[in-house]
Amino acid sequence: MRVSSELYSSPIEDATIPGMDVLSTKMINAANHNYRLGDRLSKFTFGPVRSRRLGVSLGVNNVPYKTCSYSCIYCQLGRTGNFSIERREFYRWEDIVEDVLKSVEELEGKLDYVTFVPDGEPLLDKSIGKEIEEIKKGISVPIAVITNSSLLFLEECRRDLSEADLVSLKVDAFNERVWRTVNRPHPRLKLNEILYGIEEFSKDYRGKIITETMLVKGFNEERVELEKIASFLQRLNPHRAYISIPVRPPAESYATPPEPEKLVEAYEVFREKLGEGKVELLNLPEPPPPSAHGDPKSWLLSVTSVHPLRLKYALSSLRTISEDPEKVISELEDGQWIRIVEYMGEKFVVRWFKDIQKLE
Ligand code: SF4
Repeated sequence: MRVSSELYSSPIEDATIPGMDVLSTKMINAANHNYRLGDRLSKFTFGPVRSRRLGVSLGVNNVPYKTCSYSCIYCQLGRTGNFSIERREFYRWEDIVEDVLKSVEELEGKLDYVTFVPDGEPLLDKSIGKEIEEIKKGISVPIAVITNSSLLFLEECRRDLSEADLVSLKVDAFNERVWRTVNRPHPRLKLNEILYGIEEFSKDYRGKIITETMLVKGFNEERVELEKIASFLQRLNPHRAYISIPVRPPAESYATPPEPEKLVEAYEVFREKLGEGKVELLNLPEPPPPSAHGDPKSWLLSVTSVHPLRLKYALSSLRTISEDPEKVISELEDGQWIRIVEYMGEKFVVRWFKDIQKLE
C-alpha cells in the first residue's frame, strides 16, 4: 500500500474507492489528522490526489476518523468505530474553509476539484453546506462531494449538497437484506427512505451526478439485484455510473471481488439500462486512450481497466499497432494481467489483478 508522507506533498493516484478511492492513502495521518501540504501542515486538506473520475483533486476531511453511518464489509478503513447518523459540527466551519482556501492558493492552477472525501461520511458534518458555500465564494475550482447517500432522506442534506458541482452517490444494493449485509447501516436507517432521498435529490440537483456501486462476491453480484440497481440508477440519469470491486484489504476478509464473468455481466446489465459510454469499471486510475496507440500491452491494459472489451475488437484494434495481437493477448493472460471470459456467447477481455487473486 502506498502509505508514505511524501504522498501528501505530491499528486497521488487512487485506485478504487468505496465512496473513496483515496481513503487508504490517508490512513497514515488518521491519528493526528494533520496532512502535509507543501511546507504546511494542514488539518483538513490532503493531496492533491489524482483519480480518473475527478482528475487532480484536493481532498477535504471534514469528519473525525471513521465516523460513518455505514460499516461496509469492504471498507478499506476497517470497521466503523464511530457509528452515527447524528449530524454534528465536529470542527469550526470557519477553520475548514480557511484551511481549504489556503491549500487551494498554494496549489493554484493545478486542481480540477476540491473534494469532500473524509475518513467517513461527509454529510455527518452539519456545516458542510455552509463550508461549500463559503469555499465557493473564495475559489473558482469546482467542488465535489463523495457520499454514501445514507442521509439524503433528510431535506437539509439534499439542500447542503445543492451548491456542490459534482456529487458521487453510493448505491450498492436495492434489496434491504443485501444492503444490510454489505453496507451494515446504522440500525435507524431505512433503505426505502434512502432510495427515495437519492431520487428526490437527483430531480432538483443542477450539478453533475455520478454513482458508484461496489460489487462483492456472493453478496450483490446476482443478476436480479444488478438489474434492480441499474434500473434505479437509470432514474437518476447520472453522468456516469461506476462499478468498483474491492482491490484493497477490506474490513472483512470475506469481502472479495466477483469472478470476472460476473464483472462482465454487471457491466453489460448496467450498460443496457444506462446506455453506451455511461458505465465504467473503476479498477485502475489511468484513463484509456481513445484509440489503439503506443505500446500494445499498455494500451490493452489501460482500456480494459475501464470496461470489458470484446475479444474481436481487442484483436482488430491491436492489429493497427502490433504484428501479432494474439501473442500480446496470450502473454498478458499468462502473466495474469487479463482474463478472457465468455458472456452470452461472446468472448471478452477483462482486466485482472494479481492483487485480487491474493484476496481470494
Ligand atoms: S461508507 Fe462504507 S466504505 Fe465509506 S467510509 Fe463508511 S464504512 Fe467505509
